[in-house]
Amino acid sequence: MAHELAVAQKVCVRPLVRRVIDQVDGTESKVALPCNSTREDVCPSCADKNRRLRMQQCAEGWHRTDDPERLVLADAETLHQFDDDAGDQVEDEGARRVRSTRRRDDVPDLPRVPCEDRTVGRAFETPDGKIYRPSMFLTLTMPSYGPVKANGTPLDPSSYNYRRAALDALHFPKLVDRFWQHVRGCAGYRVQYFAAVEPQKRLAPHLHAAVRGAIPRSLLRQIMKATYAQVWWPALDRPVYVHRCELAALRHPTQESWPRPAGR
Ligand SMILES: [Zn+2]
Repeated sequence: MAHELAVAQKVCVRPLVRRVIDQVDGTESKVALPCNSTREDVCPSCADKNRRLRMQQCAEGWHRTDDPERLVLADAETLHQFDDDAGDQVEDEGARRVRSTRRRDDVPDLPRVPCEDRTVGRAFETPDGKIYRPSMFLTLTMPSYGPVKANGTPLDPSSYNYRRAALDALHFPKLVDRFWQHVRGCAGYRVQYFAAVEPQKRLAPHLHAAVRGAIPRSLLRQIMKATYAQVWWPALDRPVYVHRCELAALRHPTQESWPRPAGR
């Protein structure tokens, strides 16, 4: 009943209760923070609030030709400092250990371009002096797992790739995250988008995104190809560290050396 009342009153259905200590007089109080979810099945009230906020952001910000002023914390100098720190850390790590982020050999390297501090896309000028800043509507769909009927069920269940369909659905959020990372790394500016994930009739998730600025199609195709391959590598159906796990389970917390497995 509390859930229905919260939805009807448009307040968060699963607020997070946090202890807050007043820095001046040291008194302690409990504050309920909204969960801020963007998913309707998690919290209809917060999802609705977020949806309205995105609509407003989109209506007011989409056609801007300049970037709004950044907060003081994220000014150019601070960002620069962050970059330097990150650079140092990578160097330190490189000296100590070998990084294991090896890429597949058969995937072409994506072009790396320096990211400019702007969210506004490229402008195109016509011979008569008009300036256009085109944007894109992008739909990302998973590959075919076998032919399907009009209602989305497999035409031939014996040959339909159910396993891959299930794994793709499981990995979809990771795939989307990685896709935008790659887009931002290759496009040369801080790409902004509004997107929604929807299930297709065959129940594979697909993504609709409105992207600010124009990105060459050939580049997007290259990114899509590389992103799909990267999520699927290394293979997850072959256990690699099974033996080590067995040993770790045998080891007593106070024991310093590894015990010899019984019978060996
Ligand atoms: Zn909520």
